[in-house]
Order: sequence, then structure tokens, then C-alpha cells
Amino acid sequence: MRGSYSVPYAKRGTILGAAEVAALEDVVASDDALTMGAWRERFEERFARHVGARHALSVTSGTVALELAIHLLDLQPGDEVVVTPQTFQATAQPLLGSPARVRFCDVQPESLNMDPVVLKSLVNERTRAILLVHYGGWSADMDEIMAIARERGITVIEDCAHALGARYDGRRPGSLGDIGCFSFHSAKNISTLGEGGMLTFDRDDWAERIDRLRSNEIDGVLTAVPEPTAPAPELLPWMKFTSGAYERVVSEFRRPGTNATLSEAAAAVGLVQMDRLDTLVARRRAIAARLDEVVAAHPYTRVQRPRPGIQHAQHLYTCFLDGPDGARERLVHGLNSRGVEVQLRYFPLHLLPEWQQRGHGTGECPVAEHLWFHEHVNLPCHPGLSDAQVDHLVNALDEALAEALAPAADAQPVGAARG
Ligand SMILES: *Cc1c(COP(=O)(O)O)cnc(C)c1O
Repeated sequence: MRGSYSVPYAKRGTILGAAEVAALEDVVASDDALTMGAWRERFEERFARHVGARHALSVTSGTVALELAIHLLDLQPGDEVVVTPQTFQATAQPLLGSPARVRFCDVQPESLNMDPVVLKSLVNERTRAILLVHYGGWSADMDEIMAIARERGITVIEDCAHALGARYDGRRPGSLGDIGCFSFHSAKNISTLGEGGMLTFDRDDWAERIDRLRSNEIDGVLTAVPEPTAPAPELLPWMKFTSGAYERVVSEFRRPGTNATLSEAAAAVGLVQMDRLDTLVARRRAIAARLDEVVAAHPYTRVQRPRPGIQHAQHLYTCFLDGPDGARERLVHGLNSRGVEVQLRYFPLHLLPEWQQRGHGTGECPVAEHLWFHEHVNLPCHPGLSDAQVDHLVNALDEALAEALAPAADAQPVGAARG
């Protein structure tokens, strides 16, 4: 069945159009190198302005952005990091290679975002960082979370992979905490030709460290030596790097660099996609509004309704069904048999084998666990859906909900009930 759905969960292929193709033609026609050029600079400037951050540094994926963000913390044994369990595994994965202890913080039942009340009970004098996601594009309660963090000098990393185009009281995710990490994977709110990522923050020293790390230079403390260690050869003036090796030493080595450079082609496409961001997010929101209307018309359901001031970017469409036994399963099967691809995003991280192996497990985040195992459903919601597909989705959802909740459905298999 996978691949042959009338309404696929995510667009197979690309939603890039003529403007992106024209930008690619410009890149190919230019005499410049296809990397580390003007397109990347323009994309980053544009992105920083949009988010409202002093710096935006592009990298090759959202995962790399998160890895580098966590590296900036210089975590030591004894340190603790509080993490949301309701997110894609890439959010917390870099912490598997860190000496810090992870504490998973349960979520709010409607937004699926980190619950500030639980967070308050988890932070202590060892907490160095809070790692949260704006689940599905609904900004976490950042005022409450930042108040807790600021009181203790804790660094807040926002995983903004879903949140490009979202708003929080007029501000943008990626400027609300200390470090924002974005993804431009094919299925995200914009894409840089399939893969890409961005870090946003205000600190100049972090910009310097990330810029070195992503360009194959070491991350360390470099200090000038009063006397060069060896006489420098007579070089041309621009051969600075070579002469620099005679003038500086590393007094503290933190990490080898890597190559995480976003290509010029990807950056050029990203720049065009930024022009289309509002339109793309508006389409997501319009589809979500239609789905909300159908879901809310049935009993035992809940839809996501952020408070005024929070603009949901609808990277995901999430709803909940707390009906008679098996209703959620019947809904999933009913949608599937009508050609609608359904997902449950995401399996609670603390129950993944790699985290269980580190002592985490069932009971640690009861709200996240209950919702995933019993109530939670994600439906297709992306700009790649045609009007006809949205109509099909809306009708299928209405029928499948009625069927899942019908008293007769308890007695009869769903397929038989439909004849
Ligand atoms: C997609 C995603 C990532 C990873 O981004 P990539 O660009 O695919 O590496 C991280 N966190 C969340 C919540 C995501 O949805």
C-alpha cells in the first residue's frame, strides 16, 4: 500500500517550482565556485532577518545543526540536560555521545510541547541546558520556560525543525531561546533541494566557533604567541593561513572541525523558498482548519487550538481521539483503507532502545506515553496536496471518524460494516 495512497502523508518528489529552477540556472551559469559564495551569504542574511537573530549559519542538515549546538555547551560529566520526549529522534541523539545526564520532561496534553510545570521540577544546580521542540509548528511556552532557564543560567536550545513560519506573540521561534536549529529536509516547511539546516543565535563567539567547525577548522582557543615558533617564509600577502600557523597556538582544543557547508545551489533555492514561506505556511494552515472542522464535529475528539498570539506553522497536523476501546485503531484502519496515509509522530524518545539502555523507560513521561499509545493521530497536511486530495481527505476523515465511533462498529469488523 505504501506509495500508492490517494493522500500520501508527505509529498513524494518536490514542491519546488519555476522560480527555484531559475535560481538554479543562475547558479550554474555563474563563474563562481559552487560553494561558500554569495548565495549562502544572502540566504543566511535573509534568514537571520526573518527569525530576528543576530546570526544565522547554514549547515547541511537539521541534525548537524543540533549536533553543533549541543557541542557549543561543552558538556562535562555531572552536567544535566532536560529534553522533550515527544520529537524526532535527531533532537536528542547527539546527547548519546555526551557525558551529560539526560532527563526527559513530560509534555502538555494539547500542544505536545515540554510542560513548564514538569520542567520546573526537573531543573537543579547541575542543569546546563534545556532542549525542546516546537512540536508540529506550535511554539512551546517560551515565556515560562525562559523564566525558569534565566533564573539558573541554563542555555535553551530550540529545535525549530517544524517551526519556520510560526509566531509567538509577534516573535519567531529561533529567537526565543539561546540557539535555534532549523531543518530544510524535503518534507519541512521550506526545503533547500532536499537537505539543509541552519543555526540561529545572537552570540558573536558562537558564530566564530560554528563558522570554524563547519569549514574543517578546529574548535579551540587560539592565542597569539609573542615570538613565532619558526621563522615564517616570505609569502604573498594573502597566504595568511600559512603565516597564521607560525603566529598562533591552540591553548585549549575542543573538537575537530567537519565539512557541513551548504552548497550554493541549495542556498539559492532556500532564498527563493523564503519568498514563498508565507504562502506555503498559509496553505498548511488552511488545510489544518478544514481538518479541525471535521474532527471537532465528532464526539471524543480533541483538536489543537493554540491561544491567540501563537501562530501554528502546521508542519504536522495532530488530533486526538479518546473514544470507546479501539476507536483510535479503527480510525487509523478506516483512513488507511480510504487511501489516506496516517502517521503517529513521534514514538516517545525515552522508550527507544538506546535510551532504555541508559536507564530510561515506561512511566517517566506518562502524558506523552498515554497519548502516543492511545489517542494521538497525525494526518497529511502539506502544500503538496491538491484541492481534490484535500477534499478526499476531509470526506475520508468524516466517514472514518463516524465509523470508528459508531456503536455497531464495536460488534462488526470495520470492513464488513462498509459492505
Ligand atoms: C527533521 C527533524 C530534525 C532533523 O533534521 P534533518 O534536516 O532531517 O537532519 C530534527 N528535529 C526534528 C523535530 C525534525 O522534525
